[in-house]
Amino acid sequence: MTTTTDLVSYEDALASYDPVMGLEVHVELGTNTKMFCGCSTSLGADPNTQTCPTCLGMPGALPVVNATGVESAIKIGLALNCEIAEWCRFARKNYFYPDMPKNFQTSQYDEPIAFNGYLDVQLEDGETFRVEIERAHMEEDTGKSLHVGGATGRIHGASHSLLDYNRAGIPLIEIVTKPIVGAGERAPEVARAYVRELRELIRALGVSEARMEQGQMRCDVNLSLRPHGREKFGTRSETKNVNSLRSVERAARFEIQRHAAVLSSGGTIVQETRHFHEDTGSTTSGRVKEEAEDYRYFPEPDLVPVAPSREWVEEIRGSLPELPLARRNRLREEWGVSGTDMQAILNAGTLDLIVRTIEAGADAASARKWWMGELARSANESGVAPDQLAITPDQVARVSELVAKGELNDKLARQVIEGVLAGEGTPDEVVDKRGLKVVSDEGALGTAVDEAIAGNPGVADKIRGGKVAAAGALVGAVMKATRGQADAARVKELILEKLGVSEG
Ligand code: ADP
Ligand code: MG
Ligand code: ZN
Repeated sequence: MTTTTDLVSYEDALASYDPVMGLEVHVELGTNTKMFCGCSTSLGADPNTQTCPTCLGMPGALPVVNATGVESAIKIGLALNCEIAEWCRFARKNYFYPDMPKNFQTSQYDEPIAFNGYLDVQLEDGETFRVEIERAHMEEDTGKSLHVGGATGRIHGASHSLLDYNRAGIPLIEIVTKPIVGAGERAPEVARAYVRELRELIRALGVSEARMEQGQMRCDVNLSLRPHGREKFGTRSETKNVNSLRSVERAARFEIQRHAAVLSSGGTIVQETRHFHEDTGSTTSGRVKEEAEDYRYFPEPDLVPVAPSREWVEEIRGSLPELPLARRNRLREEWGVSGTDMQAILNAGTLDLIVRTIEAGADAASARKWWMGELARSANESGVAPDQLAITPDQVARVSELVAKGELNDKLARQVIEGVLAGEGTPDEVVDKRGLKVVSDEGALGTAVDEAIAGNPGVADKIRGGKVAAAGALVGAVMKATRGQADAARVKELILEKLGVSEG
């Protein structure tokens, strides 16, 4: 079966409609134990070894709230400029799914722990866009199903399914935005920037590693269109569990084009969930969306209400770290870089590495130069994140120190870095093993300069005649003779000295 989805071009869609978006992000907290029992949350254990009567939903088992989970939720709420409930409860969200052994998910419904906030996000051009937050609430993850015997790993065509409940009960925070309006053609970019800023925030708070590729953070993209000038929102679709920043942007973009095609041909959008496909960048229909009342939410009778004291909330507020956007703005000032430069650093995933390299003694410009040049390229080529490279910020700082001292020039420094990346040892070890040192022996340099002058009499005459720029050719000859191991600035000085010319 092939179904092709009609699309209109992105530009045409935006010419007639304004997108409205809602983003729901689930974050798995990095607590040691589950949200309502003492089971471990560590990854990689054998299936069903991290379960107990409570997270398996056995009759009579009673849940207990994880205090660290609540504290993390409050941290997130405060960092998102939310109000924190003085009193709130958990609620049962009732539905059947094989990977959810209790037959309900313990969540929060009309009493979220945090509500009414906002997050400022930065777009590629450095401009800021404010995304309003509806709520952040606590809930728990489900287990995992493994469908065996089919070709696709999906349930269709499988002979049987295996269930692993190790993940069932791991704390989740769900963060829901208010409808995002006014982003216009930048809506997909805003969606991506929002999820990224949220990820940075979660990491800065230390409540989760928020690795999207590991499912620790996932995003549902709600999208609708309304004709220009119309107040009322259109019907939304909800693309579920999008798991990379790039996919969030692509899913929003695709849905804008799809909705526009349906609406402009006189059709209606059905409210449904959809799945995003990485390979094609398209979405396909999931299930028709339940209404809230289908879940028969009711307050969880087995858990006490959560009533964080104001003192505790203020204590947590006082302990929050500097938040990512404020930090980036501060660093921008300190380093003297533009908003777009900072976006590039963020895109490259090198911000913390640069900071640590500076902390290890490098100046900002050279720390930035190495991580955004040589090292970003190398990471890119080997398909790893820059922080996975076999070089530490301390080592990069050491290389830039050697350059600053004149013991290495740029070209040699690149070779040192290459050696460290290749596992040849520390920068100093690579310098020794490869014999990479600027020739600073003035006698040897002087000889090389004399030879270069003798070998290029025409050039030497030009320089004597005042054409200082011609010295470049002689510098080149000396560098070649010393296999790149001379300090180019010193070589130039020597050449001019010997020819009796002054720089200017
Ligand atoms: P549900 O649980 O059904 O997904 P929520 O209210 O939790 O509903 O989340 C819906 C998300 O979609 C919110 O971010 C909300 O702001 C947003 N939203 C609501 N209505 C629309 C609409 N018509 N178009 C786009 N987004 C919408
Ligand atoms: Mg939803
Ligand atoms: Zn358990």
